[in-house]
Amino acid sequence: KLYNQVQDLKGNIRVYCRVRPFLTGQPNRFGTVDRIDEGSISIITPSKYGKEGRKSFSFNKVFGPLATQGEVFADTQPLIRSVLDGYNVCIFAYGQTGSGKTYTMTGPKDLTEESLGVNYRALSDLFLLSDQRKEVICYDISVQMLEIYNEQVRDLLATDDIRNSSQNGINVPDASLVSVSSPSDVLNLMNIGQRNRAVSATAMNDRSSRSHSCLTVHVQGRDLTSGAVLRGSMHLVDLAGSERVEKSEVTGDRLKEAQHINKSLSALGDVIASLAQKNSHVPYRNSKLTQLLQDSLGGQAKTLMFVHISPEADALGETISTLKFAERVA
Ligand code: ADP
Ligand code: MG
Repeated sequence: KLYNQVQDLKGNIRVYCRVRPFLTGQPNRFGTVDRIDEGSISIITPSKYGKEGRKSFSFNKVFGPLATQGEVFADTQPLIRSVLDGYNVCIFAYGQTGSGKTYTMTGPKDLTEESLGVNYRALSDLFLLSDQRKEVICYDISVQMLEIYNEQVRDLLATDDIRNSSQNGINVPDASLVSVSSPSDVLNLMNIGQRNRAVSATAMNDRSSRSHSCLTVHVQGRDLTSGAVLRGSMHLVDLAGSERVEKSEVTGDRLKEAQHINKSLSALGDVIASLAQKNSHVPYRNSKLTQLLQDSLGGQAKTLMFVHISPEADALGETISTLKFAERVA
């Protein structure tokens, strides 16, 4: 409780930056990152992007290429634990395709214990803590997995067929809600969700970078002496790639996808920016994503945005646009 009060004083929105390492075999002499401090990152900018030199951006925390999954989780854990006290939490992974969003949230393709991402660690931690409190509070934990593609919400845990879970996608009341009681239950569900996602991917090749995927955890706790009930939730969102596509380069379905992604990421940015500025009007209704998360963004809810940076020189344009997005919401 005391911890949560301290958090509240610091505000409910925080932004972390993570720079992934160069991928194997790539020389690292041409990186765009000049230096990384605990709370800031400095980028080398050629004159094309304004004054030649260094531009610095501040964050609540910056993780460099050597940061481990465990270190990243350690700075996320207090937020996650507050879900068991009845808080609503949203954690987003933002960045261009290939910058490490899925690595942070889920982990790499070949998962090891060390490389497990925030999703799995978060659930394991909730089980651990709920077990420690079991003499006092009885917790029920259940999960949903949704995908938003072209402004359509889909239930990734629907066992029969993949179906559109709702016409207008608001709060998706009929999306499968599956009760879980162990980390292995969660891994199984995440695999089912991934497989359901892959089914639709074959038709239009790798779709994962062009849809948002959201793992939602609902927690209900009942105080064993007073009978009082508290509810908390956590949304773990691996966002669609933020890269801008040249209108001249894409047509048809690809253009439509790009426009939907653009619209929903800027709607998300608008919502978080207006929450950060404590505006009275928050424009939740401009995208499915922000409608879906409306109850968990703003008010007492806590938001963490991970912005991901690729260090390569040819990613500089996207890196700058990612950092500008982050600057707006921070
Ligand atoms: P995105 O989801 O943003 O498209 P990925 O998470 O798939 O990006 O990352 C792209 C590649 O880089 C993957 O092969 C991934 O394993 C690797 N990668 C990303 N971040 C890291 C990291 N922090 N450490 C090591 N490898 C990483
Ligand atoms: Mg990904």
